[in-house]
Amino acid sequence: IRRIVLASRPVGPPKPANFRLEEVPMPEVPNDHVLLETIYLSLDPYMRGRMSDAKSYVDPIAIDDVMVGATVSRIKQSRNLNWKEGDIVVGSSGWQTHAISDGSDLRGIDPHAAPMSTGLGVLGMTGFSAYAGLRNIGRPKPRETVVVAAASGAVGSVVGQLARIDGARIGIAGGAEKCAFVKNELGFDAAIDHCDPDFAQQLAEACPDGIDVYFENVGGAVWDAVLPLLNNFGRVPLCGTISHYNDEALGPPSVDRLPASIKVIQQKSITVRGFMNVEFIAQHTTFLEEAAGWVADGMLKYREDIVDGLDNAPTAFIGLLEGRNFGKLIVRV
Ligand code: NDP
Repeated sequence: IRRIVLASRPVGPPKPANFRLEEVPMPEVPNDHVLLETIYLSLDPYMRGRMSDAKSYVDPIAIDDVMVGATVSRIKQSRNLNWKEGDIVVGSSGWQTHAISDGSDLRGIDPHAAPMSTGLGVLGMTGFSAYAGLRNIGRPKPRETVVVAAASGAVGSVVGQLARIDGARIGIAGGAEKCAFVKNELGFDAAIDHCDPDFAQQLAEACPDGIDVYFENVGGAVWDAVLPLLNNFGRVPLCGTISHYNDEALGPPSVDRLPASIKVIQQKSITVRGFMNVEFIAQHTTFLEEAAGWVADGMLKYREDIVDGLDNAPTAFIGLLEGRNFGKLIVRV
């Protein structure tokens, strides 16, 4: 087995030296278990949190443990009656070429229905997060203005397209190429580049009726630009704040956004609701049925950024936290 373990905890942005590639012997497959061969590994922003030992909703990855992650795998050997050799499954093998599973964390997918990598993106955890946050918390009405940050990415691209299906609009992305994709390929009404110096003004001009739903993926300067544009009774599904993930351990933040934020939230009766996709897991089957239909009809488009080789996972992951990915970031192991 080739695998990547956490060698040391990063302070600020992760560096290649925080990871170590190892080879270990292939284990025996215990009774009732399966041996999985990884085809695709999903790289996701939450992994940055798991590399730290700061208190969180889940335990940190221990030093020398395999980096966690969702995977699409082929069952190479089965000693479990529920699975047979050759089955394709979404599981959680982490950053390694093979893993043992008792089957309880596996979900079978049909590789003929959609490309199997979609099980990690548009028809996987990120697509479901977009659906859960927008449908339960954002709840856009026709003609309302919906703004989503990191709009070309795994979650954001789905949020914007679902909003469009619901009759609403807009996106924020980094750089002209991502903005062009968001507007021309995904069909958002507008795409604003947060790297542009007059980003806040451009956003205000693109939202003449204010913002009814802001799907928050980023935080930081993007939140600063959105805040004054929020309408009364606006809804903010708080999905993530990737611009801050490398901040912890660097000392207190340079800008305290709390007083300005709570003032607007109170005076405009805004609902800011954080969520984890798993709290809506009861809707997962409905999501898969609906989203598979939209993907098949071409109503829900997706872009994947596929990197070849497990060895390249650390560099690709470091890039995710700097906006270097363009679409759902996946490693072809
Ligand atoms: P993406 O595919 O969107 O990739 C991350 C993108 O974030 C980058 O491409 C970049 O886009 C943007 N970004 C990175 N750093 C910064 C920065 N410093 N400032 C502004 N933008 C930045 O990732 P995901 O779709 O997987 O994740 C999006 C968000 O959703 C994250 O916050 C993640 O933690 C969260 N999430 C939450 C879940 C939940 O259950 N609550 C589940 C899944 C994800 P650009 O170049 O356009 O700026």
